[in-house]
Amino acid sequence: MATADSQQKKPLHFDVIVIGGGLLGLSAAYYCARDGKRVAVVERSSFYNQSGSSGDLIRMFRTMYTEYELQVLAYEAKGLWKELEKAYRRDTGKSVELLRLTGQANFGDERYGTAAQGDLKKPRENLKKGKKQVTDVSLEQVEKEYNLRNLRKAIPQDRWIGYENDDCGVINVPETLRALRRLADGRQGSLFLDNAEVYEVRTPKKKSDPAVRVKVRGSGVSKRNQELTADKCIITCGVWTNDILQNLGLELDYEIWEMVYEYFATDPDSSPPEQFPKMWVQFATEDKETGRSNLFYGFPSVPWGPDNMVKLGWEDATMNRLTLKELKQRRAEGLGQVATTVDVGHASRFVREHCVGMDPQPAFSGVCLHAAFDDYMSVLGRLPRTAAGEEPDKNGKRSWRDHYVVCAGGWAAKFAPIFGRMMWELAFDKKAQVRPELLDITRTRKKGKRKGQAYLNKLE
Ligand SMILES: Cc1cc2nc3c(=O)[nH]c(=O)nc-3n(C[C@H](O)[C@H](O)[C@H](O)COP(=O)(O)OP(=O)(O)OC[C@H]3O[C@@H](n4cnc5c(N)ncnc54)[C@H](O)[C@@H]3O)c2cc1C
Repeated sequence: MATADSQQKKPLHFDVIVIGGGLLGLSAAYYCARDGKRVAVVERSSFYNQSGSSGDLIRMFRTMYTEYELQVLAYEAKGLWKELEKAYRRDTGKSVELLRLTGQANFGDERYGTAAQGDLKKPRENLKKGKKQVTDVSLEQVEKEYNLRNLRKAIPQDRWIGYENDDCGVINVPETLRALRRLADGRQGSLFLDNAEVYEVRTPKKKSDPAVRVKVRGSGVSKRNQELTADKCIITCGVWTNDILQNLGLELDYEIWEMVYEYFATDPDSSPPEQFPKMWVQFATEDKETGRSNLFYGFPSVPWGPDNMVKLGWEDATMNRLTLKELKQRRAEGLGQVATTVDVGHASRFVREHCVGMDPQPAFSGVCLHAAFDDYMSVLGRLPRTAAGEEPDKNGKRSWRDHYVVCAGGWAAKFAPIFGRMMWELAFDKKAQVRPELLDITRTRKKGKRKGQAYLNKLE
């Protein structure tokens, strides 16, 4: 019979352990907690940290997609963002915009191909197909409304395409993290461990073992929390996802991009005071002088950000294509947190040439990490019974894998609520409300891109 003392030593047990407390992990935790599950969220850094993908003040929310499935997903997500705002208001009495619907213009050269933001023409067709609002805009309208100039330099007159959709906008990242963290406390009172790194994940050896057992270390970990067990595990570790998967003999095939973002000061006396009233994305072919991408995007100034400051993004922002090992090496040496002069120089050139009333010297800049699959999509799913390169077990069973859900990669901030809901659905066998095939964890690469190779592989 177990004594009180030996019972004390049993690890704390949960319905689900979420590893990684960024936007996606906290969202998954929220949906699980809302369903009455006992949740533990383990975060290696502090919550709301700047070290992964969910740093920065603002992210783009767009409904304009080359892939129709993602448009549908974005509209579904939009509804959930508004629900989340309501839940936060009910809980705190605070009326905060987590998603600010400013609208967005896509414009540029109709011959622009496809890149990480998709292409220019297809999203307009998709909006029409879905019977969503879309309004064509001329170059002159865009220059006037968005305080831009000399667009003709990069976009030939006869190849102009421009359109706006009102359902796009920007995400208040810091407040969303706080809202999700607060709401994820749930009825049961969740455990939030920060400064706590999961360094080992054990699969069950015997039938009586818990499906999930993790070991945790770090300054935020007490003796009581060094080992946790659960029925389910949700892995949302961004670029570090493979650190966890390797415990399970698996790895995802993504690159790590260190990406730069920059904020520029605007003229406080300019009229209208808002530099960019809406989001905008310019799809234009390479700059002739520098040979660099001319895909830029601008974010409106927002009430939760500094006054008179707008963010500018650039498609070609430094993407040091790193492996996890290289990233760790760089971080150990204190490298990788500073925007490179190439990025700063190119964005400054754009501001000087095309933005009215903006100081071309960035007011501040930073670096964010991105887990990049080469089809630019996210991966979201329960671990499959067999990954690429694996023989099925003789009895066809790997049932412990059913207890693990993984989500990584893609431009996923805008999908945070819906991805969180999907992870909860998958972990607890709920009926899926939407499940785009594009995100399937077992998918293989498309034609022309090393066809036939999977993203999820058995570890060599
Ligand atoms: C520059 C840039 C611009 C972007 N722009 C947009 C945009 O405009 N719109 C959009 O929708 N998306 C955008 N994205 C993508 C979006 O930001 C990410 O998809 C999203 O932030 C991913 O959140 P996450 O929770 O998966 O990852 P993260 O925020 O990185 O969270 C992962 C967490 O896991 C923790 N962790 C890692 N290992 C462990 C461990 N062993 N134990 C415990 N914790 C661990 C990390 O500390 C980290 O906090 C952008 C990304 C970048 C980099």
